[in-house]
Parts: sequence; C-alpha cells; structure tokens
Amino acid sequence: MSDLALSTEILTAIREVYGVSEGVVPLHVPVFDGNEKTYVIDTIDSTFVSSVGAYVGRLEEMMCKITGARHAIATVNGTTALQMAMILAGVKPGDMVVTQSLSFVATANAAAHAGAVTAFVDIDAATLGLCPKALRSFLETQAVQSDGGTHHRDSGRRIGAVVPMHTFGNPCDLDGLLTVCEEWNIPLIEDAAESLGSLYRGRPCGTFGLMGTVSFNGNKIVTTGGGGVILTNDSAIAKRAKHLTTTAKLPHAWRFTHDEIGYNFRMPNLNAALGCAQLEQLDRFVAFKRDLAARYHARFSDMGIEFVVEPPGTQSNYWLCAILLSDTTQRNAVLETTNAAGVMTRPVWDPVHQLEMYRHAPHGPMPVTSDIAARLVNIPSGFRPNAGF
Ligand SMILES: *Cc1c(COP(=O)(O)O)cnc(C)c1O
Repeated sequence: MSDLALSTEILTAIREVYGVSEGVVPLHVPVFDGNEKTYVIDTIDSTFVSSVGAYVGRLEEMMCKITGARHAIATVNGTTALQMAMILAGVKPGDMVVTQSLSFVATANAAAHAGAVTAFVDIDAATLGLCPKALRSFLETQAVQSDGGTHHRDSGRRIGAVVPMHTFGNPCDLDGLLTVCEEWNIPLIEDAAESLGSLYRGRPCGTFGLMGTVSFNGNKIVTTGGGGVILTNDSAIAKRAKHLTTTAKLPHAWRFTHDEIGYNFRMPNLNAALGCAQLEQLDRFVAFKRDLAARYHARFSDMGIEFVVEPPGTQSNYWLCAILLSDTTQRNAVLETTNAAGVMTRPVWDPVHQLEMYRHAPHGPMPVTSDIAARLVNIPSGFRPNAGF
C-alpha cells in the first residue's frame, strides 16, 4: 500500500474510533462541564483570586488523596515544580542532572534554571521512559562514585538527580531505575507531568521518587489553566517546598520578614479553584482515555499498525495516544494527510539533546530515542463527554 493510501486509512480509522465524522478534531482540549464555573466564580465573589484562599489547600489535599502522597505543594506550573524539586533534592548550581532526551523541553529547562547542566540518556522501547540499562551504562562509562557522591568523570560535576519522565502517561520502569539510583546514591525525581492517574504496580506515578511533580497545563489530563504540584512523603522537604515557593516569608500577622531568597512559585487561588473542579472528574477522564486507547489499539492492530500500549504491570492514563509508523517518510505522509483534513496529529518532540541549547551536553547512545522520534505520531486523545462510549 502507498503511504498516501495508508494515511487515508489512518484518517478514517481515527475519525471512526474517536466518533467525529467531519470537521476539526483537536489533539487534546480541556472540558469544563463539572463545578468549574461555580468554584471560579466563588473565588471572584470572595475577592481571593491570588495568593491567599482556600482552594489552594483544597487542591493540595485532593492531590494527597488521589496519589496517596503524604504532602502536595501547589505551584504556578509544572516547570517550576520540577525546578523546585531539583533544588530541594540538593541540586546546586554547577551540578549535573540526568534525564531522558525524549521529553518535553521543560524537563531539561527546569534543571538549567536550577543552575545545573543536563546529561541525556536513552529511553526504553517498552516504556518510552528513561531506560535503566542505558542509565547504568551511562554511569558506568561516564561517572565515578566517591564519599562526596557521584561525579561526572570528564567535567567533575556532581550528579545531583536522575529525572525520568512517564511519557504520554505510560509509567517508566521505576523498579529498575530506583535500583540503579540506589546503587549510585543519586536521588530520583519523577517528572510525572503527563501521568496523573497512571499506576505503576498499583501505586500512582509521582510517589516513587524522593519527589514527583505533576503539571496542570491546559493540555494535560487535568488543568488549572497553568499550574503544577510537588508530591513527596518527606515532611521536611514538604515544609521547605511551601516556604521556598511562597517567597520564604516568616508567618506573622502583619510583618514582612523573609529568611532567604525565596521564589514566587505559588499557584493562584483562581487557578486552584478550576483545578479542584477538574480533579473531581479525574476518574471519569482516565476511564474515557483507557476506553479510547483500547478502541484505537483494536482498530490499528487490525490494520497492522503498532499502537503504543502501557508497559506490563502498569496502568496508563493514556493522556496522549500514539501510533508508530514504519519510517519517517510514512510518518510525514500521515501528518500531512490528517492535518490537512482537520484531524490534529503531531510528531513527538525533537530529541532534546539535539536542540541548539543542549547540543553540547553529555549524553549516552540514543538508538531508541532516534528511532521513536522518527516514527511516532500522537493522535486525538481528548476527553469527549458525549462520545457515547
Ligand atoms: C507539560 C510538561 C512539563 C511542564 O509543565 P508546565 O506546567 O507546562 O510548565 C514538564 N515535563 C513534561 C514532560 C511535560 O509534558
């Protein structure tokens, strides 16, 4: 079959499975048909739209309930949540942070904003997340362990954190990664930006590392407009996270005293109100996406096309569904045909180690990253309240 004929068949399959026979099909848009308006109007009526208000605490409590994490600290977005998590894990300016190259650029940017240099490691084909074997091999060939911690051999930089990401909501191999991190004595922080509602061996993503961070950006499974959260079971870290993200102000009825250079990373109450209403519907969003993924999977399997499925032992939130084509030419044909017809599909991010600002960063071999980046296409995955399934 020609690439054009295949692209047309894929277009038809997406429209049929997603249940939109004509017109524009977005990749992912938020749906606000719960208590969103009520809660947001409540913040306006109360005048507490900004840094003080009850919804922030409520959102943090909801996140603890949903994930089982002991503490949740809301932030202004997922990138700042990650930056703060790295700082709290002890990453200092001049240190190194190891992450995967196949990720949204924010993972690497957060490390850069914390003053660290990023090193990139390949992903695992089964999870699309950081590969434990590749991580071990990177450390064995490029790092040395001593009393003072683990250092990158060539640059002498201390490796302050390993940050895997659960790509499109598919949990990465946490057991494997935690084992390597323990052996090398490096804290693990989960970039769980895309995986709220995903489970690894029955437990929510974002709760395995020293910290995990979630994003509530407009394109994620649940949105606050813009927002994020830091999850941790460590009370001292949680306390410091709240203090540092809220300008390091000492509690007092009227005085303005700050005891260190803090950050204004807090989530406004207005955004938290939207988020509380969205979180109430998380189960419904996840159920829809898992159902949609099962339908796509069945349909694409019939066509002989690979659909990206959750790794064994995990439950993905299927935030973004994805298919793998045979090569870049075929992928480009599919992107052209579908987008021209109003069905939004997207290639995966350019591998971050190849972007101009990270080109000179240390990295391991990237066979899987290169292969996936050349062939993957994300297909429409947003919640549809009236889809009828
Ligand atoms: C969305 C996202 C972020 C950053 O979240 P923002 O809330 O947009 O700052 C970080 N990492 C990954 C992998 C993401 O997808």
